[in-house]
Amino acid sequence: MNTKKRLATIWLDGCSGCHMSFLDIDQRLLALAEKVDLVFSPLVDQKEFPADVDITLVEGALSTEEDLHKIRAIRERTKVLVAFGDCAVTANIPSMRNPFGAEAMLKTVYLEKDALNAQVPTQVVPKLLENAIPLHQAVNVDLFIPGCPPSAETIFFALSELVEGRIPDLTQLTRFGA
Ligand code: SF4
Repeated sequence: MNTKKRLATIWLDGCSGCHMSFLDIDQRLLALAEKVDLVFSPLVDQKEFPADVDITLVEGALSTEEDLHKIRAIRERTKVLVAFGDCAVTANIPSMRNPFGAEAMLKTVYLEKDALNAQVPTQVVPKLLENAIPLHQAVNVDLFIPGCPPSAETIFFALSELVEGRIPDLTQLTRFGA
């Protein structure tokens, strides 16, 4: 019987820096791989977010209607949902547009800054939410891992606890100097 935890990772409105920090776990990824199956991630070729995921790390804020749709589906299919990094925890960098509103930002980017092809896209590009928001404003979050990005030590500690079925106490991280 396969006792490995089913782990997923995804980035929404993030820069991928949190995932790069995840890879900075380096050789400890091998130890982790003995305890988890990576069932969905930008790092693997899996198109559909699967059912029955034990742990999902979500990088990035929610900035579009598509992000909202995705996070609700992920929440339904995940036991422990982790807000992974400051963009997921607070909306961080993506929220810098919030004081101006979505329409003003689209106008500036697509109409005022693009003299050659001035038009706001209405197809393919997902519709922006009025504000970029953190995950917990849309779904229940089980664990918050702050940092921009969180350090590899923080991520490894958190995952090591989660795969053992524990919600990590991140205050313990002072012993790693993280
Ligand atoms: S928290 Fe920082 S590193 Fe992570 S996605 Fe946001 S900006 Fe990038």
